[in-house]
Amino acid sequence: MNNEGTPSGSSRLPGFHRLPMAERVRLVAQSAGLTDEERAALGVGRPPLEEVDALSENAIGVLGIPLGVATNFRVNGRDVLVPMATEESSVVAGASHGAKMVREGGGFRAESTDPLMEVQVCLDDVADPASAAARVEAERASLLAEADACSRTLPAIGGGARDLRVRVIDGDFGPTVVVHLGVDVRDAMGANVVNTMGERLAPRLESLLGGRAVLRVIDNYAVRRIARARATVPASAMGGPEAVAGVLRTFSVARHDVHRAVGHNKGMMNGVTAVVLATGNDTRAFESCAHAYAARTGAYRPLPVWGRDAKGDLTADLELPVPVGIVGGLTRAHPTVRAVLKILGVKTARELGEILVCVGLASKLAAEHALATAGIQRGHMRLHASKLAALAGAQGAEIAEVAARLVSGGDITAPRAADILREIRK
Ligand code: NAD
Repeated sequence: MNNEGTPSGSSRLPGFHRLPMAERVRLVAQSAGLTDEERAALGVGRPPLEEVDALSENAIGVLGIPLGVATNFRVNGRDVLVPMATEESSVVAGASHGAKMVREGGGFRAESTDPLMEVQVCLDDVADPASAAARVEAERASLLAEADACSRTLPAIGGGARDLRVRVIDGDFGPTVVVHLGVDVRDAMGANVVNTMGERLAPRLESLLGGRAVLRVIDNYAVRRIARARATVPASAMGGPEAVAGVLRTFSVARHDVHRAVGHNKGMMNGVTAVVLATGNDTRAFESCAHAYAARTGAYRPLPVWGRDAKGDLTADLELPVPVGIVGGLTRAHPTVRAVLKILGVKTARELGEILVCVGLASKLAAEHALATAGIQRGHMRLHASKLAALAGAQGAEIAEVAARLVSGGDITAPRAADILREIRK
Protein backbone atom coordinates (compact mmCIF):
# COMPACT_ATOMS: atom_id res chain seq x y z
CA MET A 1 0.00 0.00 0.00
CA ASN A 2 0.98 3.63 -0.35
CA ASN A 3 3.14 4.39 2.67
CA GLU A 4 3.13 8.10 2.03
CA GLY A 5 -0.16 8.42 3.86
CA THR A 6 -3.59 9.07 2.39
CA PRO A 7 -2.96 12.15 0.23
CA SER A 8 -6.43 12.09 -1.34
CA GLY A 9 -8.03 11.80 2.09
CA SER A 10 -9.34 8.43 0.97
CA SER A 11 -10.54 6.00 3.61
CA ARG A 12 -9.83 3.18 1.20
CA LEU A 13 -6.69 1.71 2.68
CA PRO A 14 -6.05 -1.74 1.24
CA GLY A 15 -3.55 -3.71 3.31
CA PHE A 16 -4.01 -1.41 6.31
CA HIS A 17 -4.70 -4.36 8.59
CA ARG A 18 -1.39 -5.98 7.65
CA LEU A 19 0.74 -2.97 8.65
CA PRO A 20 2.51 -2.91 12.00
CA MET A 21 0.61 -0.87 14.59
CA ALA A 22 3.22 1.92 14.56
CA GLU A 23 2.78 2.31 10.81
CA ARG A 24 -1.02 2.38 11.11
CA VAL A 25 -0.74 5.10 13.74
CA ARG A 26 1.64 7.08 11.53
CA LEU A 27 -0.74 6.91 8.56
CA VAL A 28 -3.85 7.88 10.50
CA ALA A 29 -2.00 10.66 12.31
CA GLN A 30 -0.75 12.04 9.02
CA SER A 31 -4.15 11.78 7.38
CA ALA A 32 -5.91 13.54 10.27
CA GLY A 33 -3.07 16.01 10.97
CA LEU A 34 -2.70 14.84 14.58
CA THR A 35 -0.16 16.60 16.77
CA ASP A 36 2.46 14.53 18.62
CA GLU A 37 0.38 14.98 21.75
CA GLU A 38 -2.81 13.70 20.09
CA ARG A 39 -0.90 10.82 18.62
CA ALA A 40 0.42 9.85 22.03
CA ALA A 41 -3.13 10.03 23.38
CA LEU A 42 -4.11 7.12 21.14
CA GLY A 43 -2.66 5.03 23.92
CA VAL A 44 0.80 4.52 22.54
CA GLY A 45 2.47 5.35 25.82
CA ARG A 46 1.26 5.71 29.40
CA PRO A 47 -2.45 6.20 30.07
CA PRO A 48 -3.20 9.60 31.60
CA LEU A 49 -4.15 8.22 35.00
CA GLU A 50 -4.76 11.53 36.77
CA GLU A 51 -7.41 12.48 34.17
CA VAL A 52 -9.15 9.14 34.60
CA ASP A 53 -9.35 9.69 38.34
CA ALA A 54 -11.49 12.77 37.76
CA LEU A 55 -13.94 10.98 35.46
CA SER A 56 -15.35 8.22 37.61
CA GLU A 57 -15.19 7.15 41.22
CA ASN A 58 -12.75 4.92 43.13
CA ALA A 59 -10.48 4.59 40.11
CA ILE A 60 -7.54 2.25 40.55
CA GLY A 61 -6.48 2.06 36.94
CA VAL A 62 -7.54 2.02 33.33
CA LEU A 63 -9.17 -0.76 31.36
CA GLY A 64 -7.62 -0.78 27.91
CA ILE A 65 -10.00 -1.54 25.07
CA PRO A 66 -8.47 -1.87 21.60
CA LEU A 67 -9.10 1.20 19.45
CA GLY A 68 -9.25 0.25 15.78
CA VAL A 69 -10.05 2.15 12.62
CA ALA A 70 -12.64 0.94 10.15
CA THR A 71 -11.81 1.75 6.55
CA ASN A 72 -13.76 2.14 3.29
CA PHE A 73 -16.54 4.40 4.62
CA ARG A 74 -17.95 6.99 2.28
CA VAL A 75 -20.79 9.01 3.81
CA ASN A 76 -22.62 11.61 1.71
CA GLY A 77 -19.68 11.71 -0.68
CA ARG A 78 -17.06 12.19 2.06
CA ASP A 79 -14.51 9.51 2.93
CA VAL A 80 -14.34 8.85 6.65
CA LEU A 81 -11.98 6.80 8.80
CA VAL A 82 -14.05 5.46 11.68
CA PRO A 83 -12.37 4.82 15.06
CA MET A 84 -14.01 1.98 16.97
CA ALA A 85 -13.37 0.85 20.56
CA THR A 86 -14.23 -2.81 20.99
CA GLU A 87 -12.84 -5.95 22.57
CA GLU A 88 -14.61 -8.26 20.10
CA SER A 89 -12.68 -9.63 17.15
CA SER A 90 -14.24 -9.27 13.68
CA VAL A 91 -16.15 -6.07 14.55
CA VAL A 92 -13.70 -3.62 12.94
CA ALA A 93 -12.99 -5.99 10.06
CA GLY A 94 -16.72 -6.54 9.59
CA ALA A 95 -17.56 -2.83 9.49
CA SER A 96 -14.74 -2.25 6.99
CA HIS A 97 -15.97 -5.13 4.84
CA GLY A 98 -19.56 -3.91 4.96
CA ALA A 99 -18.47 -0.38 4.04
CA LYS A 100 -16.45 -1.75 1.13
CA MET A 101 -19.49 -3.52 -0.33
CA VAL A 102 -21.57 -0.35 0.14
CA ARG A 103 -18.83 1.75 -1.42
CA GLU A 104 -19.12 -0.24 -4.62
CA GLY A 105 -22.66 1.09 -4.88
CA GLY A 106 -21.55 4.69 -4.29
CA GLY A 107 -21.43 4.82 -0.50
CA PHE A 108 -23.93 5.74 2.20
CA ARG A 109 -26.52 8.49 2.01
CA ALA A 110 -27.36 9.81 5.47
CA GLU A 111 -29.55 12.54 6.95
CA SER A 112 -30.79 13.57 10.36
CA THR A 113 -33.30 15.69 12.23
CA ASP A 114 -32.45 18.65 14.40
CA PRO A 115 -30.78 17.54 17.67
CA LEU A 116 -33.88 17.70 19.87
CA MET A 117 -33.79 16.14 23.33
CA GLU A 118 -36.56 16.26 25.90
CA VAL A 119 -36.79 16.47 29.65
CA GLN A 120 -39.93 15.34 31.40
CA VAL A 121 -41.49 16.76 34.54
CA CYS A 122 -44.01 14.27 35.94
CA LEU A 123 -46.62 15.61 38.34
CA ASP A 124 -49.03 13.71 40.60
CA ASP A 125 -52.14 15.04 42.33
CA VAL A 126 -52.80 17.61 39.58
CA ALA A 127 -56.17 19.27 39.90
CA ASP A 128 -58.11 18.58 36.68
CA PRO A 129 -55.43 16.76 34.59
CA ALA A 130 -57.61 17.10 31.47
CA SER A 131 -57.02 20.87 31.37
CA ALA A 132 -53.27 20.64 32.10
CA ALA A 133 -52.22 20.91 28.45
CA ALA A 134 -54.21 24.13 27.95
CA ARG A 135 -52.83 25.66 31.16
CA VAL A 136 -49.24 24.87 30.10
CA GLU A 137 -49.90 26.23 26.60
CA ALA A 138 -51.13 29.51 28.05
CA GLU A 139 -47.74 29.96 29.80
CA ARG A 140 -45.71 28.56 26.91
CA ALA A 141 -43.56 31.61 26.08
CA SER A 142 -42.56 32.39 29.65
CA LEU A 143 -41.83 28.71 30.45
CA LEU A 144 -39.55 28.43 27.41
CA ALA A 145 -37.80 31.67 28.36
CA GLU A 146 -37.27 30.41 31.89
CA ALA A 147 -35.76 27.16 30.55
CA ASP A 148 -33.47 29.11 28.22
CA ALA A 149 -32.23 31.16 31.16
CA CYS A 150 -30.49 27.96 32.39
CA SER A 151 -27.97 28.04 29.54
CA ARG A 152 -26.04 31.02 28.34
CA THR A 153 -24.47 28.97 25.54
CA LEU A 154 -27.36 27.19 23.83
CA PRO A 155 -29.55 30.20 22.88
CA ALA A 156 -26.42 32.02 21.71
CA ILE A 157 -25.54 29.28 19.21
CA GLY A 158 -29.01 28.65 17.79
CA GLY A 159 -30.19 26.03 20.26
CA GLY A 160 -32.35 26.17 23.37
CA ALA A 161 -35.89 25.39 24.52
CA ARG A 162 -38.27 24.80 21.60
CA ASP A 163 -41.64 23.44 22.72
CA LEU A 164 -43.80 21.89 25.41
CA ARG A 165 -46.21 19.00 25.18
CA VAL A 166 -48.35 17.40 27.82
CA ARG A 167 -49.51 13.80 28.25
CA VAL A 168 -51.54 12.17 31.00
CA ILE A 169 -50.66 8.60 31.96
CA ASP A 170 -52.42 6.22 34.32
CA GLY A 171 -50.03 5.48 37.16
CA ASP A 172 -50.15 3.31 40.27
CA PHE A 173 -51.22 6.35 42.30
CA GLY A 174 -53.77 7.80 39.89
CA PRO A 175 -53.22 10.02 36.83
CA THR A 176 -49.74 11.49 36.32
CA VAL A 177 -49.35 14.58 34.15
CA VAL A 178 -46.16 14.39 32.09
CA VAL A 179 -44.85 17.69 30.72
CA HIS A 180 -42.19 17.31 28.01
CA LEU A 181 -39.86 20.21 27.27
CA GLY A 182 -38.16 19.88 23.87
CA VAL A 183 -34.68 21.41 23.67
CA ASP A 184 -32.38 21.83 20.71
CA VAL A 185 -29.11 20.81 22.37
CA ARG A 186 -26.97 21.49 19.29
CA ASP A 187 -23.70 19.53 19.59
CA ALA A 188 -24.15 18.18 23.13
CA MET A 189 -25.74 14.88 24.11
CA GLY A 190 -27.74 17.18 26.34
CA ALA A 191 -28.57 15.16 29.48
CA ASN A 192 -27.13 17.71 31.89
CA VAL A 193 -28.57 20.76 30.25
CA VAL A 194 -32.09 19.35 29.90
CA ASN A 195 -32.02 18.01 33.46
CA THR A 196 -31.12 21.48 34.68
CA MET A 197 -33.99 22.97 32.69
CA GLY A 198 -36.44 20.37 34.02
CA GLU A 199 -35.46 21.10 37.59
CA ARG A 200 -35.84 24.83 36.97
CA LEU A 201 -39.35 24.46 35.52
CA ALA A 202 -40.67 21.96 38.07
CA PRO A 203 -41.70 24.47 40.81
CA ARG A 204 -43.42 26.69 38.22
CA LEU A 205 -45.33 23.72 36.84
CA GLU A 206 -46.30 22.66 40.37
CA SER A 207 -47.90 26.01 41.07
CA LEU A 208 -49.37 26.28 37.57
CA LEU A 209 -50.99 22.83 37.68
CA GLY A 210 -51.52 22.50 41.42
CA GLY A 211 -49.66 19.17 41.60
CA ARG A 212 -46.48 17.66 42.99
CA ALA A 213 -43.45 16.97 40.77
CA VAL A 214 -42.37 13.38 41.34
CA LEU A 215 -39.82 13.24 38.54
CA ARG A 216 -37.80 15.80 36.56
CA VAL A 217 -35.35 14.05 34.31
CA ILE A 218 -34.16 13.61 30.74
CA ASP A 219 -36.39 11.54 28.48
CA ASN A 220 -33.94 8.89 27.31
CA TYR A 221 -36.34 7.79 24.61
CA ALA A 222 -34.79 10.28 22.18
CA VAL A 223 -37.25 9.84 19.33
CA ARG A 224 -36.99 13.45 18.19
CA ARG A 225 -33.29 13.08 17.42
CA ILE A 226 -33.16 10.64 14.52
CA ALA A 227 -30.54 9.78 11.91
CA ARG A 228 -31.18 7.70 8.80
CA ALA A 229 -28.83 5.94 6.41
CA ARG A 230 -29.54 4.25 3.14
CA ALA A 231 -27.39 2.39 0.64
CA THR A 232 -27.64 0.23 -2.43
CA VAL A 233 -25.25 -2.70 -2.46
CA PRO A 234 -24.62 -4.13 -5.92
CA ALA A 235 -25.29 -7.87 -6.03
CA SER A 236 -21.88 -8.20 -7.71
CA ALA A 237 -20.21 -6.68 -4.62
CA MET A 238 -21.81 -9.40 -2.50
CA GLY A 239 -20.81 -12.30 -4.71
CA GLY A 240 -23.94 -12.55 -6.81
CA PRO A 241 -27.73 -12.74 -6.61
CA GLU A 242 -27.66 -15.84 -4.38
CA ALA A 243 -25.97 -13.81 -1.64
CA VAL A 244 -28.69 -11.13 -1.89
CA ALA A 245 -31.35 -13.84 -1.70
CA GLY A 246 -29.58 -15.39 1.31
CA VAL A 247 -29.54 -12.06 3.15
CA LEU A 248 -33.27 -11.60 2.51
CA ARG A 249 -33.98 -15.10 3.82
CA THR A 250 -32.09 -14.57 7.09
CA PHE A 251 -33.81 -11.18 7.40
CA SER A 252 -37.19 -12.85 7.05
CA VAL A 253 -36.41 -14.90 10.16
CA ALA A 254 -35.54 -11.68 12.06
CA ARG A 255 -38.73 -9.98 10.87
CA HIS A 256 -40.92 -12.79 12.11
CA ASP A 257 -39.16 -13.99 15.26
CA VAL A 258 -37.82 -12.00 18.21
CA HIS A 259 -35.13 -14.64 18.82
CA ARG A 260 -33.44 -13.60 15.59
CA ALA A 261 -34.44 -9.93 15.79
CA VAL A 262 -32.34 -9.50 18.95
CA GLY A 263 -29.29 -11.05 17.27
CA HIS A 264 -29.92 -8.96 14.17
CA ASN A 265 -29.83 -5.77 16.22
CA LYS A 266 -26.86 -7.00 18.26
CA GLY A 267 -24.89 -7.31 15.02
CA MET A 268 -25.72 -3.68 14.28
CA MET A 269 -24.84 -2.54 17.82
CA ASN A 270 -21.41 -4.25 17.53
CA GLY A 271 -20.33 -1.40 15.31
CA VAL A 272 -22.51 1.36 16.72
CA THR A 273 -21.55 0.87 20.37
CA ALA A 274 -17.87 0.71 19.42
CA VAL A 275 -18.12 4.18 17.87
CA VAL A 276 -20.33 5.56 20.66
CA LEU A 277 -17.69 4.38 23.14
CA ALA A 278 -14.72 5.61 21.10
CA THR A 279 -16.30 9.07 20.89
CA GLY A 280 -16.74 9.23 24.68
CA ASN A 281 -20.52 9.06 24.47
CA ASP A 282 -23.00 7.36 26.77
CA THR A 283 -23.32 3.77 25.53
CA ARG A 284 -26.10 2.96 28.04
CA ALA A 285 -28.27 5.89 26.94
CA PHE A 286 -27.75 4.99 23.30
CA GLU A 287 -28.42 1.28 23.66
CA SER A 288 -31.49 1.47 25.88
CA CYS A 289 -32.98 3.99 23.47
CA ALA A 290 -32.15 1.91 20.38
CA HIS A 291 -33.84 -1.19 21.79
CA ALA A 292 -36.91 0.76 22.85
CA TYR A 293 -37.05 2.17 19.32
CA ALA A 294 -36.86 -1.36 17.94
CA ALA A 295 -40.01 -2.11 19.94
CA ARG A 296 -41.88 1.08 19.04
CA THR A 297 -44.67 -0.78 17.22
CA GLY A 298 -45.32 -2.89 20.32
CA ALA A 299 -43.20 -5.81 19.09
CA TYR A 300 -39.39 -5.96 19.05
CA ARG A 301 -38.34 -5.64 15.38
CA PRO A 302 -35.06 -5.73 13.44
CA LEU A 303 -33.69 -2.19 12.94
CA PRO A 304 -31.49 -2.57 9.84
CA VAL A 305 -33.87 -3.31 6.98
CA TRP A 306 -32.90 -5.08 3.76
CA GLY A 307 -34.72 -5.20 0.45
CA ARG A 308 -34.04 -5.87 -3.23
CA ASP A 309 -34.44 -3.30 -6.00
CA ALA A 310 -35.57 -3.81 -9.59
CA LYS A 311 -31.97 -4.49 -10.66
CA GLY A 312 -31.58 -7.25 -8.10
CA ASP A 313 -29.25 -5.21 -5.86
CA LEU A 314 -29.62 -5.17 -2.08
CA THR A 315 -31.14 -2.07 -0.52
CA ALA A 316 -30.14 -1.23 3.05
CA ASP A 317 -31.96 1.16 5.39
CA LEU A 318 -31.49 2.08 9.01
CA GLU A 319 -33.12 4.69 11.23
CA LEU A 320 -31.96 5.21 14.80
CA PRO A 321 -32.34 7.73 17.62
CA VAL A 322 -28.87 9.27 18.07
CA PRO A 323 -28.43 10.82 21.55
CA VAL A 324 -24.73 11.64 21.12
CA GLY A 325 -22.60 14.75 21.38
CA ILE A 326 -19.23 16.08 20.33
CA VAL A 327 -19.06 18.55 23.24
CA GLY A 328 -19.80 17.99 26.91
CA GLY A 329 -19.55 14.82 28.95
CA LEU A 330 -16.30 13.00 28.25
CA THR A 331 -15.90 14.27 24.72
CA ARG A 332 -13.59 17.19 25.37
CA ALA A 333 -12.23 15.90 28.67
CA HIS A 334 -10.47 12.78 27.37
CA PRO A 335 -7.41 13.21 25.15
CA THR A 336 -8.03 9.97 23.23
CA VAL A 337 -11.62 11.00 22.52
CA ARG A 338 -10.44 14.38 21.24
CA ALA A 339 -8.12 12.56 18.83
CA VAL A 340 -10.93 10.19 17.80
CA LEU A 341 -13.24 13.11 16.96
CA LYS A 342 -10.50 14.69 14.91
CA ILE A 343 -9.96 11.46 12.95
CA LEU A 344 -13.71 11.31 12.25
CA GLY A 345 -13.58 14.91 11.09
CA VAL A 346 -17.10 15.67 12.34
CA LYS A 347 -18.04 19.30 12.96
CA THR A 348 -21.49 18.70 14.47
CA ALA A 349 -23.26 16.12 16.61
CA ARG A 350 -25.65 15.55 13.71
CA GLU A 351 -22.77 14.44 11.50
CA LEU A 352 -21.64 12.01 14.20
CA GLY A 353 -25.17 10.59 14.41
CA GLU A 354 -25.26 10.14 10.63
CA ILE A 355 -21.95 8.27 10.67
CA LEU A 356 -23.25 6.05 13.49
CA VAL A 357 -26.19 4.79 11.44
CA CYS A 358 -23.86 4.09 8.52
CA VAL A 359 -21.62 2.06 10.82
CA GLY A 360 -24.66 0.15 12.07
CA LEU A 361 -25.64 -0.74 8.52
CA ALA A 362 -22.09 -1.72 7.54
CA SER A 363 -21.63 -3.94 10.60
CA LYS A 364 -24.90 -5.73 10.10
CA LEU A 365 -24.40 -6.08 6.37
CA ALA A 366 -21.04 -7.81 6.85
CA ALA A 367 -22.45 -10.22 9.42
CA GLU A 368 -25.51 -10.92 7.29
CA HIS A 369 -23.36 -11.49 4.23
CA ALA A 370 -21.19 -13.97 6.12
CA LEU A 371 -24.26 -15.75 7.51
CA ALA A 372 -25.81 -15.99 4.07
CA THR A 373 -22.65 -17.26 2.38
CA ALA A 374 -19.70 -18.95 4.09
CA GLY A 375 -21.21 -18.83 7.60
CA ILE A 376 -20.19 -16.47 10.36
CA GLN A 377 -17.55 -18.71 11.89
CA ARG A 378 -15.01 -18.85 9.08
CA GLY A 379 -13.85 -15.24 9.15
CA HIS A 380 -14.54 -14.87 12.85
CA MET A 381 -12.51 -17.94 13.84
CA ARG A 382 -9.58 -16.80 11.71
CA LEU A 383 -9.40 -13.61 13.78
CA HIS A 384 -10.18 -15.52 16.95
CA ALA A 385 -7.22 -17.82 16.23
CA SER A 386 -4.81 -14.88 16.39
CA LYS A 387 -6.26 -13.90 19.76
CA LEU A 388 -5.84 -17.44 21.09
CA ALA A 389 -2.26 -17.53 19.80
CA ALA A 390 -1.41 -14.31 21.63
CA LEU A 391 -3.13 -15.54 24.79
CA ALA A 392 -1.07 -18.74 24.63
CA GLY A 393 2.04 -16.55 24.77
CA ALA A 394 3.03 -16.43 21.11
CA GLN A 395 5.19 -13.43 20.23
CA GLY A 396 5.79 -11.56 16.96
CA ALA A 397 5.81 -13.89 13.94
CA GLU A 398 4.79 -16.82 16.13
CA ILE A 399 1.26 -15.37 16.37
CA ALA A 400 0.59 -15.69 12.63
CA GLU A 401 2.13 -19.16 12.51
CA VAL A 402 0.15 -20.50 15.47
CA ALA A 403 -3.05 -18.90 14.10
CA ALA A 404 -2.52 -20.40 10.63
CA ARG A 405 -1.97 -23.87 12.08
CA LEU A 406 -5.00 -23.51 14.33
CA VAL A 407 -7.18 -22.66 11.33
CA SER A 408 -5.80 -25.35 9.03
CA GLY A 409 -6.17 -27.98 11.75
CA GLY A 410 -9.76 -26.95 12.47
CA ASP A 411 -9.34 -27.29 16.27
CA ILE A 412 -9.38 -23.57 17.15
CA THR A 413 -9.07 -23.79 20.92
CA ALA A 414 -6.79 -22.43 23.64
CA PRO A 415 -5.23 -25.83 24.55
CA ARG A 416 -4.46 -26.51 20.87
CA ALA A 417 -2.84 -23.06 20.56
CA ALA A 418 -0.61 -23.87 23.54
CA ASP A 419 0.33 -27.25 21.98
CA ILE A 420 1.22 -25.66 18.64
CA LEU A 421 3.33 -23.01 20.34
CA ARG A 422 5.25 -25.71 22.22
CA GLU A 423 5.83 -27.61 18.95
CA ILE A 424 7.09 -24.48 17.19
CA ARG A 425 9.48 -23.62 20.00
CA LYS A 426 10.93 -27.14 20.16
P1 NAD B 1 -22.36 18.79 29.50
O1 NAD B 1 -23.30 19.33 30.47
O2 NAD B 1 -21.01 18.36 29.98
O3 NAD B 1 -22.09 19.83 28.34
C1 NAD B 1 -23.06 20.46 27.56
C2 NAD B 1 -22.80 21.93 27.62
O4 NAD B 1 -21.78 22.30 26.70
C3 NAD B 1 -24.02 22.72 27.20
O5 NAD B 1 -24.87 22.92 28.26
C4 NAD B 1 -23.41 24.01 26.71
O6 NAD B 1 -23.35 24.93 27.76
C5 NAD B 1 -21.96 23.66 26.34
N1 NAD B 1 -21.67 23.83 24.90
C6 NAD B 1 -20.59 24.43 24.36
N2 NAD B 1 -20.62 24.37 23.01
C7 NAD B 1 -21.75 23.75 22.69
C8 NAD B 1 -22.33 23.37 21.43
N3 NAD B 1 -21.76 23.64 20.26
N4 NAD B 1 -23.50 22.68 21.46
C9 NAD B 1 -24.10 22.36 22.64
N5 NAD B 1 -23.58 22.69 23.84
C10 NAD B 1 -22.42 23.38 23.87
O7 NAD B 1 -22.94 17.54 28.69
P2 NAD B 1 -24.39 17.10 28.29
O8 NAD B 1 -24.32 16.77 26.83
O9 NAD B 1 -25.46 18.02 28.75
O10 NAD B 1 -24.56 15.74 29.11
C11 NAD B 1 -23.94 14.54 28.67
C12 NAD B 1 -23.44 13.75 29.86
O11 NAD B 1 -24.47 13.55 30.80
C13 NAD B 1 -22.98 12.40 29.45
O12 NAD B 1 -21.71 12.18 30.02
C14 NAD B 1 -24.00 11.46 30.06
O13 NAD B 1 -23.42 10.20 30.38
C15 NAD B 1 -24.42 12.19 31.26
N6 NAD B 1 -25.74 11.92 31.84
C16 NAD B 1 -26.66 11.12 31.23
C17 NAD B 1 -27.90 10.92 31.82
C18 NAD B 1 -28.92 10.07 31.11
O14 NAD B 1 -28.80 9.79 29.93
N7 NAD B 1 -29.99 9.65 31.80
C19 NAD B 1 -28.21 11.53 33.01
C20 NAD B 1 -27.27 12.38 33.61
C21 NAD B 1 -26.04 12.57 33.00
